[in-house]
Amino acid sequence: MQTREVRIGNTVMGGGHPIVVQTMCNTHTSDIEASVAQCRRMVQAGAQMIRLTVPTPADVEALAEIRKRLRSEGIGTPLVADVHFSSEIAIAAARVVEKVRINPGNFHRNHEEACAQLSRLIRVSKECGTAVRIGLNHGSLGERITSLYGNTPAAMKEAAMEWINLCVENDFYDIVVSLKASNTIVMVEAYRLLAQAMQEKGLVFPLHLGVTEAGNGDSGRIKSAVGISTLLSEGIGDTVRVSLTEDPVNEIPVAQYLADRYGGKLHSSLCKVSIEGTSPKAVATYAAPSRERLMLDMACDFGKMLLDRKIDGVELRGSYKDENGREKILDGTDEALYFADELLQAARRRFYKPEYVACPGCGRTMYDLESTFNEVKRRTAHLKGMVIAVMGCIVNGPGEMADADWGYVGEGGHKVTIYRKKTPVLRHVPDTEAIDRLLELIENQS
Ligand code: SF4
Repeated sequence: MQTREVRIGNTVMGGGHPIVVQTMCNTHTSDIEASVAQCRRMVQAGAQMIRLTVPTPADVEALAEIRKRLRSEGIGTPLVADVHFSSEIAIAAARVVEKVRINPGNFHRNHEEACAQLSRLIRVSKECGTAVRIGLNHGSLGERITSLYGNTPAAMKEAAMEWINLCVENDFYDIVVSLKASNTIVMVEAYRLLAQAMQEKGLVFPLHLGVTEAGNGDSGRIKSAVGISTLLSEGIGDTVRVSLTEDPVNEIPVAQYLADRYGGKLHSSLCKVSIEGTSPKAVATYAAPSRERLMLDMACDFGKMLLDRKIDGVELRGSYKDENGREKILDGTDEALYFADELLQAARRRFYKPEYVACPGCGRTMYDLESTFNEVKRRTAHLKGMVIAVMGCIVNGPGEMADADWGYVGEGGHKVTIYRKKTPVLRHVPDTEAIDRLLELIENQS
């Protein structure tokens, strides 16, 4: 899809330029040393754009200092300020970095006031040559839009188009848009609708793709690849962020794979495929150079077919090379079944285990998110089909955990709030007890 070209510092996005690989720091932005060190590692791994959270005015100053230090080291990678709620912070950040990510609906409950605040941000962004990402997530659309359109992909598209129209009325075109969801069906549908609406309007802005709160490990990679590759294969998407609840540097090879594959630089290790049966199943033979490549290849080869219900299952055959270069045969093995189960769950066709929603963490996270998430996964592995969220902060976590049945949300200060759907049911639980309390609640309610 031909999109407008948007310049973000030394990088050009859209307009037929290669897909941009980006990631986000999970350091506290106020910790300048740690943030600069993490940015350095990200750049070495191939990040072309780096986002940092900016929760307070003091973080804007820290961000300016981080940028100064990186530039003094010759690192010109554009920085993106991630701002929630405060248009004043967004405006201040627009003066110091190349791009600001906002959800304008969060600026104010009153829509007219939110529009006025976005218009002020646009004025400053135009003055400073700063780009803006209108970043809407499925879980946090706001009452006004959901009362009109429900909590649906159509609502996400409508909300995005309202803000796009306001930018255009203000003669501002340096915008990028994202409509993330952790549910791959919702995510794909929302971007497809938005791409179509922008094409009908004749103004197509670059799209930033991501499956938000995808979790970690194999599931996080497969889920991200299913959602993102479906869209990239349709020519939708100009930049990619793979969100993993891990060291953010680990996100980059996955995003780079997607950028390379849909940029025509890399091909699947799929050797042979046949579609068999009345409930059609793809029987796929691979010769994959690694385990990670096998997962990403199969997610890209069959994710879209599963999402679009062209097939109902996948059987993996062939082999991949393990980390010691030894060939691991897939035919008829438990591991082949496991990969197929993961793929079907990522495409939401069959749930063989709980569905986890976990944010990647950022500078707002006040606890060890990754190890807590792994422990929650270990202790809840038997709860097949249940949706369990583990979120890094109480400010955005509850809104972002979308349709989770249960939520474990870090408050900071070693305290946790447990949610049942969108309702907090236990507050200020010490983190040493929180997983036990969560399991007790789940057992009592089921
Ligand atoms: S929910 Fe997670 S990623 Fe989102 S702002 Fe909070 S800590 Fe950061």
